[in-house]
Amino acid sequence: MSFRNRARIIEIKKETEAIISRYNIASLPVKIEDIAKKTGVRVTPYAFDDDISGVLVIEKGEGTIGYNQSESRVRRRFTIAHEYGHYCLHREKSAVFMDKGFHAMFRSKQSGITEDTQLLEKEANTFAAFILMPDILLKREIDKIDFDLGSEDDIKNLAKIFDVSSQAMYYRILNSGLFQF
Ligand SMILES: [Zn+2]
Repeated sequence: MSFRNRARIIEIKKETEAIISRYNIASLPVKIEDIAKKTGVRVTPYAFDDDISGVLVIEKGEGTIGYNQSESRVRRRFTIAHEYGHYCLHREKSAVFMDKGFHAMFRSKQSGITEDTQLLEKEANTFAAFILMPDILLKREIDKIDFDLGSEDDIKNLAKIFDVSSQAMYYRILNSGLFQF
């Protein structure tokens, strides 16, 4: 990972931590929809086609997040967090973010999109991971149990507490620096 990437990740992390502390978030799962609404962003369900997870529309500086109501709850939460990430990080860059396939970005590169777009998508995913699974709360929960990264059950249980997918939790912990590998 380049230094520039690393510096940007730290910036994004700080931004999410500022939000977590501004709204005194201490209970889990993080109420991402409420946080977005408190910031003045509208959040509404939509009957999108299957392949669209969410959109963010900026109109006169105001943001509206639409999420696919037919996806699972953990996906809807991640989508809202991802779109809210675009709002916090990228709202000067575009008026519309239409999102398909970013849930799979942990694993693979999306085809057919430019490197710039890919970077914005990665940043929004990073933001989503940090705001749904903040370090301070992650440490708190990991300390409560005798956590074992190799245990699927431990990952599953943590994922349940944070109301995220096991996959998102696994990657979050791997990238957290909380464990030495
Ligand atoms: Zn996106």
